[in-house]
Amino acid sequence: METASLLEFDKKHIWHPYTSLTTPLPVYPVAGARGAKIILDDGRELVDGMASWWSVIHGYNHPQLNSAIKEQVDSFSHVMFGGLTHRPAVELCQRLVDITPDGLEKVFLCDSGSISVEVAMKMAIQYWYALDRPQKKRFLTIRNGYHGDAFHAMSVCDPDTGMHSLYRGVLPEYFFAAAPQTPFSGDWNSGDIASFSQLIAANAESLCAVILEPIVQGAGGMRFYHPQYLREVRRLCDEFDVLLIADEIATGFGRSGRLFACEYAEVVPDILCLGKALTGGYMTLAATITSEKVAAGVCRKGVGLPGVFMHGPTFMGNAVACAVACRSIELLLATGWQQNVRRIERGLQQGLAPCRQLETVAEVRVLGAIGVVEMKKPVQMASVQQKFVDAGVWVRPFGKLVYVLPPFIISDSELEALTGAISTIVAGEQ
Ligand SMILES: *Cc1c(COP(=O)(O)O)cnc(C)c1O
Repeated sequence: METASLLEFDKKHIWHPYTSLTTPLPVYPVAGARGAKIILDDGRELVDGMASWWSVIHGYNHPQLNSAIKEQVDSFSHVMFGGLTHRPAVELCQRLVDITPDGLEKVFLCDSGSISVEVAMKMAIQYWYALDRPQKKRFLTIRNGYHGDAFHAMSVCDPDTGMHSLYRGVLPEYFFAAAPQTPFSGDWNSGDIASFSQLIAANAESLCAVILEPIVQGAGGMRFYHPQYLREVRRLCDEFDVLLIADEIATGFGRSGRLFACEYAEVVPDILCLGKALTGGYMTLAATITSEKVAAGVCRKGVGLPGVFMHGPTFMGNAVACAVACRSIELLLATGWQQNVRRIERGLQQGLAPCRQLETVAEVRVLGAIGVVEMKKPVQMASVQQKFVDAGVWVRPFGKLVYVLPPFIISDSELEALTGAISTIVAGEQ
């Protein structure tokens, strides 16, 4: 198929994330990708600033990840996980238990981030049900959050940006505390926890869990908040008998500068959600990991209790996805990811510094391998995107946010190309 007819079909028939089929935005056809570069059909090479939404941490077309997949396909690709198990799943879960905070040791594998959030929320409800406190079935979260697009995941996304009004009557209504305001490295303001503290105290009897993104709020605003906030949340959850679900789907696997962002606060959640970078961006796979205590509760036997966790997707524990995830974690631990993330952090600080001077820019913030330029006004996505492509980089802004999360293997010169293009293009925005 010629590129033109391919694009024509795409435009008429295919939804892309959050798009309209009546007024479609342009899409760029990809012919290949390697290292930190995406190669378009017309031969143009773009330095990738997005890591395909946090996930491609080792870059594209990585020989070791490619061979992990090929070896697994030649053995077998998938078998049902009901009543069967296999080496790739076991080895992956062993690694996950090893590298995640102490006490998290029971792993549920599922297909996507949103579903791992659904699984975490079901676990929390089932836990209190089995402990004979079935009234504890509601959730508390913080504003500006993003947890996925499935219904229950959506119910704890920011109510305004998540368009809750659109789903009124269908979406369960939960509790939203004010978003944390103390910046990551600012002086802790103890008043910051007041809204959360008041809500958890007032509703403890009906709350099964708090769910939040630790330290970095991703798609809901790309904000970094103070570790003390998270410590206070943990303390209050303990005080009021509420479980803590940490959604590290975006932050997991080193992105924030720690392997898991919870480590900044030395907080261990009761349930942890992982996804995105889990397979190095090769395949869709996610995991929900919990403690002995929660697992024991969920599986408790008794009259009217199922005694099992009530979830089991068809493609659970897909062997190819597990094999590549396993290799991706090995690679991460073997390649000095921390130096790379620190190097990227410095490069982003320096390279985005000129944006701080601009009248149109509200704030520039960097944490780990995440760089954000927040504009005062929303950018015109289609035209700005075109300018980035013309400048040889792949950056996809949304709303007021121009942000980058490059693959950890990006070279210094590629990183300079990225930040240089952002500085120039942002300076041109009115
Ligand atoms: C992306 C994301 C999700 C949803 O993951 P999907 O794989 O897109 O379903 C959930 N939570 C956070 C924090 C995310 O960044």
